[in-house]
Amino acid sequence: MIKVTQLSKTFGSNHVLNGIDLDIHKGEVVVIIGPSGSGKSTFLRCLNLLEQPTGGDIEFDGVSLLRGKSNINELRQRMGMVFQQFNLFPHMTVMENITLAPVKLKLRTKDEAQQIAQQLLKRIGLAEKAGSYPGSLSGGQKQRIAIARALAMSPTMMLFDEPTSALDPEMVGEVLDVMKELAAEGMTMVVVTHEMGFAREVGTRLIFMDGGKIVEQGTPADVFAAPQHPRTKEFLRKVL
Ligand code: ADP
Ligand code: MG
Repeated sequence: MIKVTQLSKTFGSNHVLNGIDLDIHKGEVVVIIGPSGSGKSTFLRCLNLLEQPTGGDIEFDGVSLLRGKSNINELRQRMGMVFQQFNLFPHMTVMENITLAPVKLKLRTKDEAQQIAQQLLKRIGLAEKAGSYPGSLSGGQKQRIAIARALAMSPTMMLFDEPTSALDPEMVGEVLDVMKELAAEGMTMVVVTHEMGFAREVGTRLIFMDGGKIVEQGTPADVFAAPQHPRTKEFLRKVL
């Protein structure tokens, strides 16, 4: 589904991504771990062109995103993204948050979008919150709404950047549960997280990044049981 070749990104003299090669297949749940500043967020943001890579290439379903002209709106429709800080629009209701993009991009009529939103809300257990404003919701509820908002575009792939890092501990589980369900339904996902339990249980592949490179990857079971690279060993010793 995604083929990343020698991807690089610099901010001025700061080489943040240094030649990332990665293939992601349909239905995979790729979990990315690594120390702060290792380029995990930048990598996700390059995948959906929130950042413009400075080198290499990204192909999505066989089409280069960087050579020739790519349609960014279409790309972002196919690749949903969920951020650490939810990024809901505070002045809009939950329903308005979820229906805004599909209606604005003319993917659906307002009626259709609202029906889909209602189904999504039901699925994440928040059917009664359609008319609420984000300010009245808990962090866990906000993040579940942010996931629903991304799903409202019917993406073929979802990117998650530390979706539970801003949450109080008691709310982490409800968000991970929604993500687990998505994975079980076959959604292709790339998840940056510090939740090692989720990585072990749901990840089909675990990637350790350091210094803007993929240092090591494998099945979560293998990497956790027997990390090969000294940097991976050191990192896992600290977080496990
Ligand atoms: P991680 O998500 O692994 O913590 P990031 O991708 O956020 O790492 O950041 C990697 C490096 O890129 C850091 O040194 C950070 O300061 C730098 N960086 C990220 N975004 C920008 C930006 N928009 N402008 C300048 N430097 C940035
Ligand atoms: Mg980050």
